[in-house]
Amino acid sequence: MTDIVIIGAGAAGCVAAIKAAEAGARVVLLEKNDKIGRKIMITGKGRCNITNAKKWSDFSSHIHTKPAFLKPAFYAFSNIDTVDFFESIGVETVLTRDDRVFPKSMNAATVVDALARRISGLKIKTEFCCDAGRVIKTPDNLFVTEYIRESGRRLSQESIISRAVIVATGGLSYPATGSTGAGYDIARGFGHTIQRTFPSLTALVPEHYDTRLVGIELINVTASLTVGRDFAASEFGDLQFTDGGIEGPVGFKLSRKAVWALLNGDKVSVSIDLKPAVPLERLRERVLQAIRQEDVTGANFDKKVRRLLRGFMPQALTAPFAEGNRLTMDNLASVMKDWRFNITGYVGYRRAVVTAGGVSLDELVSRTMSSRNAPGLYFAGEVIDIDGDTGGYNLQIAFSTGALAARSAAEYCKN
Ligand SMILES: Cc1cc2nc3c(=O)[nH]c(=O)nc-3n(C[C@H](O)[C@H](O)[C@H](O)COP(=O)(O)OP(=O)(O)OC[C@H]3O[C@@H](n4cnc5c(N)ncnc54)[C@H](O)[C@@H]3O)c2cc1C
Repeated sequence: MTDIVIIGAGAAGCVAAIKAAEAGARVVLLEKNDKIGRKIMITGKGRCNITNAKKWSDFSSHIHTKPAFLKPAFYAFSNIDTVDFFESIGVETVLTRDDRVFPKSMNAATVVDALARRISGLKIKTEFCCDAGRVIKTPDNLFVTEYIRESGRRLSQESIISRAVIVATGGLSYPATGSTGAGYDIARGFGHTIQRTFPSLTALVPEHYDTRLVGIELINVTASLTVGRDFAASEFGDLQFTDGGIEGPVGFKLSRKAVWALLNGDKVSVSIDLKPAVPLERLRERVLQAIRQEDVTGANFDKKVRRLLRGFMPQALTAPFAEGNRLTMDNLASVMKDWRFNITGYVGYRRAVVTAGGVSLDELVSRTMSSRNAPGLYFAGEVIDIDGDTGGYNLQIAFSTGALAARSAAEYCKN
């Protein structure tokens, strides 16, 4: 028997294991992969944006859908604590634009290696290749976690008894990293509601997507989302056209609302303003000037307009822009400020950065991360119905909820 079983050695599970062991609890960490932190390795394009340094008042505006739920966990283990923690285990950090914090090495392996060293330094028992299934509570308030251990070609059914369990199995995104939704079944086993899950921070697929756009990056544009006939959101920054569709920081920020609307059968469109800093009237004047200079006439419009467009956008964009819109001399400026894409789909979990939805917050105690249905059972990380924007928010959610669940579970075991 042990004090705490932690299921999942991702961002939340690793920090939970370290914090629980530091609090004096005996911990067993169960991980179905053969190493810890497989998803951490691919975060921030391999650089790992470990947190965001914004104060809670700003930070919370990037948390969905109930930031108030995260507040106690954030204050128990804040973004400042995250930086201090990683510095204390040998990861130097740097602050970059938009308050993003990275390891100075700009290498996610630095983060994972440091966590692994600390886990082994604390002599935390880590069981790899162990796929946890059912968790049950015995009449004497102990937990039995059943798992399948894979060693070579041999599979064995095993179980472990503990006073408390922390479920840190992640969501459904990037299943290749190990997060395949197992935590939802464990939660359901204790009568928890799973709020509808859907991919977030993912690419939006435009109707008749022109593949010539793939690889083009737009800097400092504004993209606005319309759902049905209503304006839903607007974001300023960088946007990328990829093989998936519209993504990059701006596309990602719009994706949560867009995917939710598509799931509900609403019509969704994205309008890109290529010149957000230039008011429409001034842009019109500049376009008219260019029309005069290039000697664009009604007769040679199609031929000359692309040359003209080069003064207003990256060259690679000119052909898809000219052919994807019904351009006239009169509407050139307004289309540059309102380039509309009907969105007909999105890229699913296989490439979504995060899973929205999950274990219902109403059934968890925000001060402890404990299940209201089963004292001694805790949830941490992406498995919970809480997610953040791109920018280090999601790892901080995992670290904060993992640390708080660990502290609470350690106290529970003592009592
Ligand atoms: C491509 C990509 C880039 C990202 N970049 C960033 C970034 O730069 N900054 C940021 O803040 N966020 C980023 N995120 C999001 C962030 O990585 C996740 O939100 C965070 O890792 C969630 O942590 P977690 O511990 O809850 O889940 P995970 O990290 O998914 O860990 C869950 C662990 O549980 C294990 N597990 C699952 N089921 C079982 C089971 N039944 N038995 C045993 N083990 C199990 C899994 O193998 C896995 O190791 C990124 C995500 C992706 C996909």
